Amino acid sequence: MIKISQALYVRVALSIAIVAIVVTLVSSTLSYYSGLKEKKNTNYLLVQQLAQTMGKTAAIAAYLNDRELSQEIINGLLSNDLVQGASLEGEVNPKGEMDLFIASGSTNKKKEAVLIKLVHPFIEDTFIGVLAIYPDDNFIEQQAQSSLIKEFILMLIQSIVIAFFVSLVVRKWLTQPIQNLTDSFATIDPTNPETMTMLEFKQGKRDEISRLTQGINALMHELKLTISNEQSLRKKTQELEAKFRLIFEQASAGICLLDDKNIITTFNPAFKHYFTVPGEEELSTLHFPALLNNVDELQNLLADIRCDKNPPQATLDIECKVGYKTIWLHCLFVRLTEQRETKRSAHQEHFVEVILHDVTERAEREFQTRFEADHDPLTDLLNRRAGEKRLKKALRECIKHNQHLVLMMIDLDKFKPINDTYGHEAGDKVLIEIAHRFKKHFNQETDICIRLGGDEFIVARQVNTYNKAATREQSIALLNELQQDIYISQNKTCTVGASIGIAVGPNDGEELLELMINGDKMLYHVKETGRGQIAFYDEFKK
Ligand code: GH3
Ligand code: MG
Repeated sequence: MIKISQALYVRVALSIAIVAIVVTLVSSTLSYYSGLKEKKNTNYLLVQQLAQTMGKTAAIAAYLNDRELSQEIINGLLSNDLVQGASLEGEVNPKGEMDLFIASGSTNKKKEAVLIKLVHPFIEDTFIGVLAIYPDDNFIEQQAQSSLIKEFILMLIQSIVIAFFVSLVVRKWLTQPIQNLTDSFATIDPTNPETMTMLEFKQGKRDEISRLTQGINALMHELKLTISNEQSLRKKTQELEAKFRLIFEQASAGICLLDDKNIITTFNPAFKHYFTVPGEEELSTLHFPALLNNVDELQNLLADIRCDKNPPQATLDIECKVGYKTIWLHCLFVRLTEQRETKRSAHQEHFVEVILHDVTERAEREFQTRFEADHDPLTDLLNRRAGEKRLKKALRECIKHNQHLVLMMIDLDKFKPINDTYGHEAGDKVLIEIAHRFKKHFNQETDICIRLGGDEFIVARQVNTYNKAATREQSIALLNELQQDIYISQNKTCTVGASIGIAVGPNDGEELLELMINGDKMLYHVKETGRGQIAFYDEFKK
């Protein structure tokens, strides 16, 4: 409820009353002064008329020098309310004396007096005295004041009555309906659509308040719909968000979000678990490529994904070290586009979502399977199939880069007797040791050591420039090394020799098969010519 002093109709009434009082005061003052002047003039005229009327009698009194009559005339004049003083003066005689002088009342304001010259009753144009009548200004002013007060009181009453009726009208037609509207409106809670009941108004009425109410109702109807929609939408969003959060929080996969600088902006517990070193609370860095120790490859891959021309997804298996542990992670990278930003920025930055799975076990199994498929189980050297594949690739690269592939076909000399003498197991030990010695001599990244089967081997090396003398030295050194004692069991050692046929690609064969056949030719040439030697195919050609 509002205070009565704040009510609109009271304020309107007060304003009207104040304006009316001020207007009344101003207009009364103005009418007072104009009325006063008018009244004065009127009274002056009346006094003049009075003086004219009395002029003749006064002339006779002055002519007769009759004091008694003169006094009566003066008294008669004084009885009039408009006159405050009067005097009758006779003419000054030749002796300089004034025969007659009678004055009564207030006669000092000479200027305002009405003067009537008294003419000789028998001789025209001869003046015998002056009748002076002094008008009563106070009386005139009092009259003007009393009429002003009456007028003022009347106008005041008029104003108050008008103000009262205006306030009633304003209250009836304006403030009461507004008050009703305000009271109904106060029951509405904008956050609760249930409270948004339609405001009442008289049907068919087309005044401003009714139209305002209709307008508010229409607005409220829309608002109610919007709020209801928004609330149900928010509820759905919250439910969805809770589900997504649950997925995010409890997912077994590590999930993280990268900004345009590959900084991890958010991550789930599984992600943290992958990269937290025991004893440390936080991730070592939030820069994703640095965290996976794979800066160059990952930065390139992430830059490619962000490029709109490329597919928005990519996968990569990464081996990374966390503390002392090595894990394999299968990473799925997905480019995310913020829908809202699409129109705004010409150059758009993309977030990237990363989903990681720990595939260490699988990777190790695969690695083991692949290793077993490619390697000889006894010596761990490449087997024939995988070895030939590697050799073909190496020969292709050599031809492409103008390099050479030195291929040595090796067969152990008189190996069978070791088996026969010391047993198959001892023979196996010899093969293992021989393989170890190959790897020791051919330990460069591009070197290839293969067990073809039985006691047959290939070792190969890619060289930028082929130096026959150096190759010869190398093969002799290898031969010497192979001939060293081999420990087979307690206090038992044996020795084994080897024959080596050397062919150099692409000089001695641009195809692997050709190169191997040529190397083989040389190997059997050595076998036939006494074993324990090396032979170059280029020499055999000659
Ligand atoms: P040569 O000097 O002419 O090369 O004669 P060799 O005694 O070395 O015999 P050869 O190369 O003809 O045969 C290889 C032998 O190696 C035949 C086989 O008994 C033996 N052998 C093959 N594979 C294995 C294996 O895995 N383990 C063992 N212990 N012996 C094997
Ligand atoms: Mg042999």
